[in-house]
Amino acid sequence: MFPDEFDYYAAESVPEALELLDEHSDAETELLAGGHSLLPAMKSGLSSPDVLIDVSGIDALHGVSVEGDTLSIGAMTTYSDLLDVDAAHEHAPAFTAAVEQVGDEQVRNRGTVGGNLAHADPASDLPGAALASDATVVAEGPDGEREIPIDDYFFGMYATALDPGELVTRVEIPSAADAAGAYAKKPSPSSGYAMVGVAALIETDGDTVTGARVGANGVLDHGVRLEPVEEALVGSTLDDDAVEVAASVATDEVDEMMMMSDLQASAEFRATLLEAYTKRALAAAADTATPRAAD
Ligand SMILES: Cc1cc2nc3c(=O)[nH]c(=O)nc-3n(C[C@H](O)[C@H](O)[C@H](O)COP(=O)(O)OP(=O)(O)OC[C@H]3O[C@@H](n4cnc5c(N)ncnc54)[C@H](O)[C@@H]3O)c2cc1C
Repeated sequence: MFPDEFDYYAAESVPEALELLDEHSDAETELLAGGHSLLPAMKSGLSSPDVLIDVSGIDALHGVSVEGDTLSIGAMTTYSDLLDVDAAHEHAPAFTAAVEQVGDEQVRNRGTVGGNLAHADPASDLPGAALASDATVVAEGPDGEREIPIDDYFFGMYATALDPGELVTRVEIPSAADAAGAYAKKPSPSSGYAMVGVAALIETDGDTVTGARVGANGVLDHGVRLEPVEEALVGSTLDDDAVEVAASVATDEVDEMMMMSDLQASAEFRATLLEAYTKRALAAAADTATPRAAD
């Protein structure tokens, strides 16, 4: 299908994009990043913006850097460009593990980190990893720059803490260079999106877990942290028994009434998947944790 007609503007800077957003605030306006969620929605008639503001060419929104203890990812950095940066794997192992599993190579060559988190599709791969990585979403709007901790960011299906006039400019991730990270995903057989995906970031001191963050997507209508799993892990020796015990509490604080239920998976099946894929993510993280705890 062809999308409805729209006006197109290519912004060359963040101030220009913000000006355009303000100028068209009375119209239905969308930002165009990689276009890999927006354009399918427009072609299928699910979205009919009057105005498209293309932010993909803004140089300042591209690139990855390490500043002190923080990995900074420009919002328009494509998944492929992020995966090409060794420092990203080193400092954000859970996040890059999830990015590696987004779609296929064509999708990873076009889709962007900022577009993914702004779109907040519950079945996408980055919400759980952003939660596990303790990311901060940095947005710029008419009142200047705002830092949104990831724990306060996701609200519901396609709903975030972003205001309509705001633009995500970068995502900041505290360095987890000493931690082990992993992402385990049950892809939908038809779309490849996550029926359930679990990201884990685990810090150890010797054999003992000293810190853990675990996030999931595909389960509720927004990304969710699995705090009972984190609590069960801390203090454990991260052996097979500890992984089993921690995974067994994955659904403890996830209300089954609120779990996604669709043609692909009932809520009950998703609960089973959540426990199974939590176990896989933890086991994969345990395998990369140094030193490896004795089984
Ligand atoms: C065949 C296919 C398979 C896919 N498989 C997966 C998968 O397995 N896992 C997965 O996670 N995703 C998957 N995707 C989605 C893909 O990752 C998208 O790239 C992503 O969801 C959106 O990023 P984008 O850069 O393409 O954003 P766009 O589609 O350009 O924009 C999406 C939305 O975000 C808003 N937006 C974009 N940038 C900003 C910004 N800087 N600030 C504020 N708002 C902004 C736009 O206004 C729009 O509403 C798939 C897509 C396709 C086409």
